[in-house]
Amino acid sequence: MSNNQITFASLSLAQPLMDAIADAGYTTPTPVQAQAIPLVLAGGDLLAGAQTGTGKTAGFTLPILQLLTAKPAAEPRPGRPRCLILVPTRELAAQVEESVQTYGKYLTLKSMVMFGGVNINPQMKALRGQVDILVATPGRLLDHVGQKTLDLSGVEILVLDEADRMLDMGFIRDIKKILALLPKQRQTLLFSATFSDEIKTLSDGLLHNPGYVEVARRNSTVELITQSVHLVPQRLKSHLLAHLIKHNDWKQVLVFTRTKHGANRLTEKLIADGIPAAAIHGNKSQPARTKALAQFKDGSLPVLVATDIAARGLDIDQLPHVVNFELPNVPEDYVHRIGRTGRAGSSGAAISLVDKEEFQFLRDIERLIKREIPKESVDSFVPPTHIAEEAPRPPRQAHGQRRNNGPHTTGNRQQVPREGQGQKPRSAQQREQRPRNPQQRDQQPRNGQYSAKPRPPQKTVEQQHLSEAARHQAMPQPALFSPKPSVRRVR
Ligand code: AMP
Repeated sequence: MSNNQITFASLSLAQPLMDAIADAGYTTPTPVQAQAIPLVLAGGDLLAGAQTGTGKTAGFTLPILQLLTAKPAAEPRPGRPRCLILVPTRELAAQVEESVQTYGKYLTLKSMVMFGGVNINPQMKALRGQVDILVATPGRLLDHVGQKTLDLSGVEILVLDEADRMLDMGFIRDIKKILALLPKQRQTLLFSATFSDEIKTLSDGLLHNPGYVEVARRNSTVELITQSVHLVPQRLKSHLLAHLIKHNDWKQVLVFTRTKHGANRLTEKLIADGIPAAAIHGNKSQPARTKALAQFKDGSLPVLVATDIAARGLDIDQLPHVVNFELPNVPEDYVHRIGRTGRAGSSGAAISLVDKEEFQFLRDIERLIKREIPKESVDSFVPPTHIAEEAPRPPRQAHGQRRNNGPHTTGNRQQVPREGQGQKPRSAQQREQRPRNPQQRDQQPRNGQYSAKPRPPQKTVEQQHLSEAARHQAMPQPALFSPKPSVRRVR
């Protein structure tokens, strides 16, 4: 049977699951569901190449619920889950557990979510009762193991969700510790958006004769997403973004920044401009993150500014606009970011604001997605005449340098990075911490002031970007702004 002939009914799912699927409004299984559900129901290990937005969560949750229901626990005990789902971020943990509840609503299985950044006591209390399915981030899970509040000896099914991101975030050491605590005899499912060498090594050591599923990656299924680039100097980006939001009356925009600090700064500027916005990143408290995300999802907050880590795995229904305030260093992250829109058949727009310093990143992204992203001008935008000069940004690493980030090897438990808390792909971490490069030191704020060094006369925004574009042959660009007399010389 080809994928598009497969129905939920043909997947032999139990009636309580079929009812929950109907309640969720799903009519046909997505490709990853059509392929993964039979393999998981058959009891085998699985290696799946699928990312958020493909319906992968139901792809593993539905058959797991069925398997656990069909076979009662051998030794039911409080705080002894039968299924462990490991995920990289708190947001994803909450989202996956919500899916477990949604699909398992007519079953008696109990699920629990566990992540750091929140009081551990309610989790301890929950572990004193029945927990069949545990969705957890690695750090907090190990805390519970250390406190002997969690018993992993009864795990029959292990899921590593977004495994590539867990490795990127330096979780391999924690994952290995967790694996050592699990029964050898179990079913293991590994989901990853990409298949790096590290993922292959991990899956080789972990999976036995796995079934293999790979669904079209976002970078080959982005037809529904309108992508565009606006060439704009860094210092004008917040003004342009505010203009785009107001001028086009955007109601729901997810904006990606490179750094947590940048996310905060942008949020403040947008708010000052009368646009309600909130930032989510690892330095924000979990309640603040949860609140911002809830408001953004329910439509009461139009702009959410996020770093890659915080936004990873976010599933927001029919998100219309994603803005890359800065391009990511790692081209795959672009694909992950724009995958937040154009979900489940809905169309979406991904807009990137690109400074000339980012041309190389843009070229690398275009090579990855095998298409050129149209460069569009914003004729309606007239940059302000006076713009406060911003502190220079820390230097960026070249594309692809995030990989091979080993975990800390100090043996000091405290230094093991934790989910979403100051723990990012190493390149991002270094970017935020590293001293700025010598060329930029002149422009560094001193005692709160900017250097008053005289500067050579500057070109207009348009001239600067056009001449830069001309130097980059692969990038013949339209000017950002219409060549109106109103385009002012900006410093
Ligand atoms: P996921 O990739 O698991 O994060 O799922 C992405 C989105 O697709 C979620 O909002 C799901 O509710 C939705 N979804 C999952 N399966 C289906 C389906 N078979 N039909 C329609 N939507 C689905």
